[in-house]
Amino acid sequence: MSKQDLLNTIYTEVAACHKCSLWKTRKNTVPGDGSINTTVMFIGEAPGYWEDIKGLPFVGAAGRLLDDLLLSAGLSRSEVYISNILKCRPPENRDPLPVEVKTCTPFLDRQIQIIEPKLIVTLGRHSTFYILSKAGFKEVEGITKLRGKMFEVNIIGLRVSVMPTYHPAAALYNAKYGSDLESDFQLLRLELEKRR
Ligand code: URA
Repeated sequence: MSKQDLLNTIYTEVAACHKCSLWKTRKNTVPGDGSINTTVMFIGEAPGYWEDIKGLPFVGAAGRLLDDLLLSAGLSRSEVYISNILKCRPPENRDPLPVEVKTCTPFLDRQIQIIEPKLIVTLGRHSTFYILSKAGFKEVEGITKLRGKMFEVNIIGLRVSVMPTYHPAAALYNAKYGSDLESDFQLLRLELEKRR
């Protein structure tokens, strides 16, 4: 099976998923989107209002900011892959529940295995702690201490660099997060330039 066929199988499973209660309130599932041949993957938290309507990740206000940040790192959306910890919108955009993370993340693990990124950018604390805990990190330090650094880790059989940063939505509420996000995406740009 090709990478695309394998991903399509996941998308079909996600569309039919009833493993947690979020299927009852979702309009659409949001499995992920972007280039399957990328070396860079972005992982957010969960679909919001517009993502639920359109079935695509990061298409609301936070998504527009993410597009600008991607451009500042020399990337376009079509050349990266974007997914989330949860594939369905939590009601009122509440935080993911531990049981939802547990039931949904096997889909994300399979996406990572298929895409085999060399670099994962985790957007916000939920995806940061999910990915770094897979690499044996303990949830001792907050995202503020972890952000803007590159961690070389082994997860699900892959050697990968992980760069945690804030969730773009944070910058919509507090400009301080916006300038930290900008500097983290400059670090990403330098890292990608080194690898070219
Ligand atoms: N926030 C997320 O974490 N993911 C999305 O897809 C949209 C907003």
